[in-house]
This record gives sequence, structure tokens and C-alpha cells, in this order.
Amino acid sequence: MRTATSSWDGIPVIKTGDDYVESLRGRDLDVYLFGDRLVEPVDHPIVRPSINALKMSYDLAIADPELATAHSDLIDAPVNRFLHIVGSPADLVAKNKMQRRMGQLTGTCFQRCAGLDTISVLHSITYDIDAKHGTHYHARYLRFMAEAQRRNIVIGAGMTDPKGDRSKRPHEQADPDLFMRVVKRDAEGLYVRGAKAHMTGGLNSHFICVMPTMNMTKDDTDYAVVGMVPLTAEGLTYIYGRQSCDMRAMEDGDIDAGNARFGGQEVLVVFDDVFIPWEHVLMDGEHEFAQEMVARFTSYHRASYVCKTGLGDVMVGAAASIARQNGADHASHIKDKLVEMTHLNETIYSSAIASSHEATQLESGIFMNDSMLANVCKHNVTRYPYEISRLAQDLAGGLMVTLPSDADFKNPKTGPLLDKYLQGRSNRPVEDRRRMLRLIENMTLGRNAVGYLTESLHGAGSPQAQRIQILRGMEVDKKIDLAERLAGIEADPKDAGE
Ligand SMILES: Cc1cc2nc3c(=O)[nH]c(=O)nc-3n(C[C@H](O)[C@H](O)[C@H](O)COP(=O)(O)OP(=O)(O)OC[C@H]3O[C@@H](n4cnc5c(N)ncnc54)[C@H](O)[C@@H]3O)c2cc1C
Ligand code: SF4
Repeated sequence: MRTATSSWDGIPVIKTGDDYVESLRGRDLDVYLFGDRLVEPVDHPIVRPSINALKMSYDLAIADPELATAHSDLIDAPVNRFLHIVGSPADLVAKNKMQRRMGQLTGTCFQRCAGLDTISVLHSITYDIDAKHGTHYHARYLRFMAEAQRRNIVIGAGMTDPKGDRSKRPHEQADPDLFMRVVKRDAEGLYVRGAKAHMTGGLNSHFICVMPTMNMTKDDTDYAVVGMVPLTAEGLTYIYGRQSCDMRAMEDGDIDAGNARFGGQEVLVVFDDVFIPWEHVLMDGEHEFAQEMVARFTSYHRASYVCKTGLGDVMVGAAASIARQNGADHASHIKDKLVEMTHLNETIYSSAIASSHEATQLESGIFMNDSMLANVCKHNVTRYPYEISRLAQDLAGGLMVTLPSDADFKNPKTGPLLDKYLQGRSNRPVEDRRRMLRLIENMTLGRNAVGYLTESLHGAGSPQAQRIQILRGMEVDKKIDLAERLAGIEADPKDAGE
């Protein structure tokens, strides 16, 4: 029986990556994978690579504190940058640089940024709700954050509801639980029912922040809820998401997995009347703030997709390495394809970094990315990694998808045949060629294609979500005016205000 007398019970102060891994053990969570209850996820070969990827955020803070830590005014101490409240555009730029580095080191989604962007948006949204309604959310938020920073925890972002029929609002759904809602309130707190889908690092976190996934109307008031829920709360069920080729992690040897050390994680988290004490409730019914909350979250998070440039750096390196091993690296079209991959990757980077440099200050005092450039960044991310992957597959050759298994290389009859016929350039062992082909396969078709491709497409909103924001911000009338002035066209007074 799980008990959580206080929301912080069982969450230690985490200093190192190893402390972090230990903090995930023995939590007795109700986790399901392949139809069975998973008693201890930490050592499961399918789960562990995702923990390793997140652990890197702790390791990097020790190895490179300038990049991955910052001074917190809240607790007057250095904190992991993944828990730092952004105090300036420079903080956002530093965040983006750290994210690129994390992508380079792991080659996958390292799962900690959605939580970081959640805490950023909550600073200003709680402040703004209090200013309008006289509530006390901001002080609660600051108390929560001080403790989160002291303990150096991981916060998962539970935004996406299952959403049922996409043409209907939350209160119109045939099943009212398809969006998360408050089902009961009492003197101690409130109770939520529903589910949060695709939760990145859902199982590798200490708290989940539940929040609305879209704008809410007066009729959706019970759906306009934000709260911090510890993973050990009563009533939570975690159902682990499958990833392409995930069973390779169960095989002997580390070659066929492609990237055996690091992977992403997505979980469906079901909330069966889960209690949230008032102290951890940060919105309850202020439906008119839901849309602004989502908009601010996406401004932060869509620039965070700069993470994919770190993975892009790995892809460029992998493509160049395999071309070299194949003896094709001197060909001009190979160099040109590497240039094209780099150009696409740096285009993503430039939009993210520009978005952070152009951040503006909010009423609560913190800074938020430029929304237009953040949306452009994320929209680039929905496309360019696919083209970068296509070029990497081009340079890899067909062996990337026809390469026999590691077991066949170990077989006494087939092993020597494979070593003879799959030799590339003679100065490199066949194993190096296999490893590089498997890495490209992993990132473009296998487990980490989730992180490099499909997450790039849908994470932080599918492409149309960015196009809507770009449409809202593109100020086409101003641009018509610019063009008409230069063309010598008199402004038509009837058009004013259209
Ligand atoms: C790998 C991965 C990690 C993720 N991590 C997180 C996370 O940590 N936390 C979190 O909260 N979310 C997370 N997400 C969720 C992500 O934000 C959603 O996948 C995204 O918002 C799209 O929602 P959906 O998957 O329900 O797709 P859908 O909403 O079903 O969209 C599918 C298609 O339908 C279109 N569509 C949808 N609704 C409408 C409509 N009303 N009218 C017209 N067209 C419509 C969309 O534009 C899209 O083309 C993650 C997703 C992925 C894939
Ligand atoms: S997709 Fe990128 S920004 Fe989002 S959590 Fe993963 S690594 Fe971070």
C-alpha cells in the first residue's frame, strides 16, 4: 500500500546523477509494461536508457556548472539550470546551449525541459491570476519551487489530455474524463480524474504538473486546473509507451540497439480521483487563463526544441563517419550533403537562439521567449530532422536496414563470412561500421527516432499549432502597408482596422 503523508515524503536531496537514480528506486509505483506490473522500473533494460538520459542533466551540472547551473535568487544558492527561474534573456540563451549539449551527449530526448518550461510559465501565470482574482497561487508556487530547487527534483509536464473527439470541447465529450477535471473539493484540497498522455519522462520524475491542454470556456471551469502531484500519490497508474525496436534492449550485446545507453520515455498516466492539497493547487477554475498559459508554455517549449540540434550534430557526425568508413567521403556530393544537413540544423538553432535573445519581460518579472521565433523554431523542427535523416540514410547505404544481427556475427559459420563481405575501408574494423549503421538506424527508424523524428513533429504541438500562432503574429496588414507605400498606392481609409 502506497502512502504519502506529505507530498515531499520520500524525495531526498539529490546532488549527483547516482543520487538521482537511487531516488527513483523503491517507490512502489503502479507501472505496466507488456501487460505486466513492473515492480522496479529502474533496472529494467527498456526503461534504464531513459533514466540514463535524464541522469545526464545531473552529471552535466557537475561536469560543466557554468553551462548547466545558475544562481537562484529564491534560495540564494546555485541550482540545476533545469530548475532555474528565468531572470533574463541570457538565462534563456544559456538554457538553449545546455539543451543542445544534452542532445549531443545523449542522442535522444533527455526529458527534463517540459518541466522546466512549465515552472517558467507558472511564475507569470500564477502572478497574473492573483492580480485579477486576489488568489494566493504565486506564493504557493514560490514555496513549491524553493523546495524543488533545494531537493533538485525532476518535474514532468502533464499537459496533453487524451482529448477524445477533437471537434468537441472538454465538457461536450461523451466521456467527461477525456480531459482532466476536478471531481471533488474539500477543506484539504481537490481531487482530479482523467489521464495525461505521451508524458515524457513521466516515470522518471518526482512530481507531475497537471495543467490544461487548450483554452477553456466557462462551461469547462472544472477542467481549468493546475496542480503539482507527487508520483507516489494514491490513484495513479502508469502505462509505459512502446517504442520502435524497443525489444533490442532485451537482447545480448550493445551493438544492435544502436544507442544502448540512452533512450526516451513516454507514459500514459491515469489519475483516478487523485488528491492535490491546496498548497499544491496553482489554478482552480480560472478558465480564462488557460489559453494564455498554453500560449506562454509553447513560447518557452517550442524554443526548447533546439534540443534537436544536438541530435542533429550527432546525425551529421554519423553520416560523415559512415561515408568515411565506406571510402566515399572525398566525393563532392557527400560533402555537399553534409553541408546541407548542417545548414538545416543551424537554421533550427538560429531561430531558437534568436527567440531567446528577443525575450521580453512579463509582469511577474521573468522573461519569455519571442513567440513568433519560437514557433518558427518548432515548425522548422517538424521538418528539418526528417530531411537530415533522409540524407544520413542516403550516405549510410542500404546495409543500414539489411545488416544481419549481432548473433550472426558471433556464429562460427556466418561470422567470418560477414566479416569478409561487409568490410568497408580496410583500415577500420567491420564492427565500427556496424555500430555506426545501427546508430543511424536507431535515430531514424528505431527507439530514438521517437525523439528525433515523431517527437519533433508532434511534441509541443503538431505543425498546425505553430501555423496558427504564426498566422496570429504575422501582422499581415502592416506588411501590406509597407508594400503599398513602396508601390505608391494610397492607403484606402476603408481598409483601416480590417
Ligand atoms: C514523443 C512525444 C512526447 C511528448 N511529450 C509530452 C509531454 O511530456 N507532456 C505533454 O503534455 N505532452 C507531450 N506530448 C504530446 C504532444 O504535445 C501532442 O502529441 C500534440 O499536442 C498533438 O496531440 P495528439 O498527439 O493528441 O494529436 P492530435 O491532436 O490527435 O493531432 C493529430 C492531427 O490532427 C490534427 N487535429 C487535432 N485536433 C484538431 C481539430 N480540432 N481540428 C483540426 N485538426 C485537428 C492535428 O493538427 C494533427 O495533424 C508528446 C508527444 C510526443 C509524440
Ligand atoms: S523533446 Fe527536447 S525539449 Fe522536450 S523534453 Fe525532450 S529533450 Fe527536452
